[in-house]
Amino acid sequence: MSRVRAAVLEEAGRRLQVEELELEPPGPGEVMVRLAAAGVCHSDLHVIEGDLPVPLPAVLGHEGAGVVEAVGEGVTRVRPGDHVVLSWIPGCGRCYYCRIGRPELCDEAARLQVAGTLPGGALRLRRPGGAPVHHFLEVSCFAEATVVPERGVIPVRPDVPLDRAALVGCAVTTGWGAVVHTAGVRPGSSVAVVGTGGVGLNVVQAAALSGAWPVIAVDRVPAKLELARQFGATHTVDASRTSDVIGAVVDLTEGRGADYAFEVVGRPETIASAYGMARKGGTVVVVGVAAPHLEVGINAFSLPSQSKVLTGSWYGRSVPEVDIPHILDLYMAGRLKLDELISRRYRLEEANEAFDALRAGEVARGVLLLGG
Ligand SMILES: [Zn+2]
Ligand SMILES: [Zn+2]
Repeated sequence: MSRVRAAVLEEAGRRLQVEELELEPPGPGEVMVRLAAAGVCHSDLHVIEGDLPVPLPAVLGHEGAGVVEAVGEGVTRVRPGDHVVLSWIPGCGRCYYCRIGRPELCDEAARLQVAGTLPGGALRLRRPGGAPVHHFLEVSCFAEATVVPERGVIPVRPDVPLDRAALVGCAVTTGWGAVVHTAGVRPGSSVAVVGTGGVGLNVVQAAALSGAWPVIAVDRVPAKLELARQFGATHTVDASRTSDVIGAVVDLTEGRGADYAFEVVGRPETIASAYGMARKGGTVVVVGVAAPHLEVGINAFSLPSQSKVLTGSWYGRSVPEVDIPHILDLYMAGRLKLDELISRRYRLEEANEAFDALRAGEVARGVLLLGG
């Protein structure tokens, strides 16, 4: 049993509180990871604000990287000392979706998200001498250390700084995969990206790397549009200054609309907007995670008459074991930006400030440094 400091959400609507928890050693098929860094993502904020109900109390955080400290019985993928990025959809490898090569849709991972436990119902975190604390997405990386399933650790090259590597656990892979896997953006095609936060910037840079032109970034925050240009946007639309963002994108695409439109906000109005920005026969990819009770209105006649492809992209339709090391190789080769994604670094005790900045739209990504 070890003691770790962790940021616990007691109930929705409350602030996170940093407390000392007991962390049980890893069971069979589990890995204990000493965390170095964790990204602060909108999905955690959804849980804090009560839009995404999960069992509480829980240790949040699902975008993390660190060093393996101990492995449970039967673990072969990693050894103590290995650097790892954590995956928040550790595909079970056995369900229908894992077997057809779509691990991001894993039934078992979806079930455990709702249960707030590790596989088999295991809970490895508890208050000293007291009640268990739930896991979040089988990761719970707002802590000095965590226990995760073996399939949730992705070994990575040790020369990548772990604060940069952490971002590849969610934001980078989600944005990159939406472009490369879900949409399959082709060179020379036009791309519009609505929302250029931590994930949206990665949609922008993957589109640029895929040879798209123009790459049109749409956001309400001028500083984020400026950042989008650094990540490869060729044009920007400031949604705070125009009432007709669809018209602006249509104007920039020879009056047609974009070949591909990505929504990376997670709101009904921006999803409808992205749908409107795609040309006839174009592709609309919804990446943003909206609260589960919301619905989107789409003109029914337009569905057949404009024949757009409307799809979603969950975790970039990625295979984390393949995509995460690949993305880190691209970063180390200077082909993909990660340094510029980190707007601010925080200590674990400053987790609430990190969420305040995210809520205010001030940052691309805030990262908690966990000292591991
Ligand atoms: Zn995330
Ligand atoms: Zn599965």
